[in-house]
Amino acid sequence: MGGINKYPIYEILIKFVRDRNPDRNYEKDSWSIKGLRKNRLRDVLHKRTMFRSDVSDDELNDFAQLIWKNSRKQLPNPSKPKFEIQLVDREEWCLGWFFHWTFDVGQSDSEVLESFENFLHRKGVGLNYSYGYPAYEYSSRNKDSYCAMGAEDRWRWHGIKDTKFGNDSENKTPPPCRCPVCKEQGVIRIFH
Ligand SMILES: [Zn+2]
Repeated sequence: MGGINKYPIYEILIKFVRDRNPDRNYEKDSWSIKGLRKNRLRDVLHKRTMFRSDVSDDELNDFAQLIWKNSRKQLPNPSKPKFEIQLVDREEWCLGWFFHWTFDVGQSDSEVLESFENFLHRKGVGLNYSYGYPAYEYSSRNKDSYCAMGAEDRWRWHGIKDTKFGNDSENKTPPPCRCPVCKEQGVIRIFH
């Protein structure tokens, strides 16, 4: 393929106040409750996402509003939210919850794996090829290092047969993931 695709990656913070969980205790001086009414709590939704090409402020706002619309139903008495949207990177891979993803532009499996390794190297992440070797400890000791959520363990990388059936070991495939969900979304994932 040649060349690195640098896609814009945004971090979206949605800050709001909601009711506390009645069965949880909160530290009296915690920032999350300080100065609020008795049963209220500060909370924040956090979403990192990557776009295929540059997006306008309006598109970003619409995207953030959609996240809020889908999330607020599950929240107890949420206040009007405050949005903070920031361009955080231009890269080929975006971090999800214990996976990374990129757009499917027709790469072969070996091109995908090579691109992901190169990405981690650009981020200063060393790779750990065999199980049990504590490379992760070295990375996590450096506070400024990129949080790879386990991707530094090369042996962890895998795909999933079909995410409908979960991330269980019997559903694992060799990386990268090209399951029906990835296909439908036009992305490629690497779980770790
Ligand atoms: Zn998939």
